[in-house]
Amino acid sequence: MAGKRLILMGPPGGGKGTQAKRLQDRYGIVQLSTGDMLRAAVKAGTPLGKQAKAVMDAGKLVSDDIMVGLIAERITQADCAQGFILDGFPRTVPQAEALDKLLKDKGISLDAVIEVEVPDARLIERITGRFTCSKCGEGYHDKFKQPRKAGVCDVCGSTEFTRRADDNAETVGARLKAYHDQTAPLMPHYRAQGLLKVIDGDRDMDVVTKDLESVLGT
Ligand code: AMP
Repeated sequence: MAGKRLILMGPPGGGKGTQAKRLQDRYGIVQLSTGDMLRAAVKAGTPLGKQAKAVMDAGKLVSDDIMVGLIAERITQADCAQGFILDGFPRTVPQAEALDKLLKDKGISLDAVIEVEVPDARLIERITGRFTCSKCGEGYHDKFKQPRKAGVCDVCGSTEFTRRADDNAETVGARLKAYHDQTAPLMPHYRAQGLLKVIDGDRDMDVVTKDLESVLGT
């Protein structure tokens, strides 16, 4: 079925970004990552980026008004008409309520909300070791996925890599706390709408992808 619309939920480092990229390719739908949007704004030095940087570095959440505004503008763009994967949004109950209203006003309904579950102890290890190719964005990990040739991206051959400013042990604690305090309460919201599916994300990436595909269908 074409035109899938879904939310990928889960803790920081739980693999949402990686899986969203795979689903994007598999289903021809757009990944809407609010974290990526904010990092692009920080990099470009826009007023939004300047405002968001300190909040992100502290592992806290950017205000609901800003985030809802960003998504409201993005989701109505032409490339979202064929479907989308929300990755990192909504993250609070007010964001979820604003999204419900936004979708209702536009006559759009969600196909699924999928929670990728991973225990906290695993997340710290996953987050603190990760890095990406600066050119093509391929993800790597110091322990779990090193480039085949040290220092060279497997996909595009670039030798430049970046680590996220907030992927350090101190910030991870705050990000996990924000997740448990502010984002976990969204699960009952979507369960009540009959949309929530829970997947065990503490397994090999390919197995998790297969599970996602079996939830979403062909
Ligand atoms: P992520 O890449 O999804 O882990 O997001 C990185 C950081 O961006 C988060 O720790 C927050 O500071 C901020 N952020 C991303 N999405 C949201 C959101 N929906 N609401 C509030 N803050 C967000």
